[in-house]
Amino acid sequence: MALLDMLRSPLAFLESRLPTIPHLPVLRAEQEWWKTDGVRISDAIDRAGTPWLRMFDPSGRRTDEILYPPEYQTMLRQGYRSGVVWRALEENSLLPTYLLMYLVSFYDPGVCCPYTVSLGTAVSLAKYGGVESQARFLPPLLRKDNSVWQGATWMTEIGGGSDLGASVRTIARPSSDSWLLTGDKYFASNATAELAVVAARPEGAPPGVRGLALFLVPRYRDDGSLNRFIRRLKDKIGTRSVPTGEIELRDSEAYLLGRADSGIYLILEVLNLSRVANSVASVALAQRALADALAYAECRTAFGKRIIDHALLRHQFEVRLESLRSAFALAWESVRLLDEVGMERPPYSERYHVFRLVAHLAKYWTAEFAVSSAKWAMEVHGGLGVLGEYEAERWLREAMILAIWEGTSHRQILDGLEVMERKQAHKTLFAQLAGIARTEELQELESDVQRLLNLRPDHKEAEAEAVFRRLAILSGDHLSRKYLQ
Ligand SMILES: Cc1cc2nc3c(=O)[nH]c(=O)nc-3n(C[C@H](O)[C@H](O)[C@H](O)COP(=O)(O)OP(=O)(O)OC[C@H]3O[C@@H](n4cnc5c(N)ncnc54)[C@H](O)[C@@H]3O)c2cc1C
Repeated sequence: MALLDMLRSPLAFLESRLPTIPHLPVLRAEQEWWKTDGVRISDAIDRAGTPWLRMFDPSGRRTDEILYPPEYQTMLRQGYRSGVVWRALEENSLLPTYLLMYLVSFYDPGVCCPYTVSLGTAVSLAKYGGVESQARFLPPLLRKDNSVWQGATWMTEIGGGSDLGASVRTIARPSSDSWLLTGDKYFASNATAELAVVAARPEGAPPGVRGLALFLVPRYRDDGSLNRFIRRLKDKIGTRSVPTGEIELRDSEAYLLGRADSGIYLILEVLNLSRVANSVASVALAQRALADALAYAECRTAFGKRIIDHALLRHQFEVRLESLRSAFALAWESVRLLDEVGMERPPYSERYHVFRLVAHLAKYWTAEFAVSSAKWAMEVHGGLGVLGEYEAERWLREAMILAIWEGTSHRQILDGLEVMERKQAHKTLFAQLAGIARTEELQELESDVQRLLNLRPDHKEAEAEAVFRRLAILSGDHLSRKYLQ
């Protein structure tokens, strides 16, 4: 049973997988805070449902405030103070950030979202912002106290999030030293963030993704009035610790990031940071679901003994722990690669394309794994699992969102195919995996991937999922051996 014990603590699991962990005392303190205070707050926020939007103050002035219990801010600010965003830039490494995200997501995968989108905002600004924008906006995003600003990343419009080239209708018009944006964002998480990065099409730019650019949009105009408006908040099944709304941009003051004609690369970079975070959060959620199932299985008795002591259930736990390790290895490989190539700008290196492939595999597989683990954990709880008053039900609700945002499984599979076909990223990945263990299964899969890539476009897409899934699982299994060393 000692083997399964590590499921109970996110830090114990991380320590069992990674040879070195930077800032261990910070992570220990973070875990303690969640155990003593965070869990209680997070549970209450989730059960309270959609937060409340107060659009006007008593004098009738538009304010668009979101009302949360005061403890919400305590929970949210905890991660910022610990360094989930500022460490990435100050220490020039993403490892501390994603380690913190793993820890936090074990307790509340929703609160990982504000951290992720704030990170995406800060990194884009640091990489592509003009000197003036950086001087004005970067320091508040990197503050270490409760006055820290938050970021947001808004691309999706009513026409859909998968096909941004066709669906982004927000228009950007140049105006003296800045831009004015007009349009509507349909899924906008962290709706009251002080600063958002927003996809828009400069007037006269070509159609499709090539005509998109990325802009910084502050919450307030230079004159102090609201620069963007919240039309309404989404009533979601999960991630209630992040307010997601619909945003109206009406001649909103904005600042261009990078060059207007290469915005799509910047947008994809933001999405990639989020996909890696999504993968880390998915594995943490899966661990949490298994930990809760374990705690229940140790108390519940059936047929004269604890259900954990029945051979079938115990075997299932052991298999799930192995799959958790494999999923973690895949997610962590995407972290490691991003840490290595994250500051590259287009045109990217071969290594960057391998990162992209691993990130698509990880986003796809870890989210699927989180959903299946949450469903299985619910089953272990029997009938109690479906009741809103216990936690197993929450993990399934949260997991469903992880599989959709930052691009559904279809998107990951198709983008993964693209990077294999156009950049041959799979060849480098296979060479790396063979260096860990050259198995027959690996060689067979390599031939199957090549066969898939040679098919006619329609057939290739139709048959892609089975091969992509095998590639994700086998990569995770191989990488898991590497992380054990
Ligand atoms: C809680 C939550 C918060 C969110 N927050 C944000 C945010 O802050 N910022 C932001 O920009 N977005 C956000 N999103 C939006 C999210 O990124 C999109 O939901 C996601 O990208 C999918 O887009 P869609 O919902 O419009 O589905 P669609 O793009 O309409 O797709 C519908 C279905 O069709 C499938 N599909 C599409 N194209 C293909 C194809 N070629 N082949 C096969 N299947 C295909 C999709 O995979 C999906 O299953 C959020 C979403 C949720 C649920």
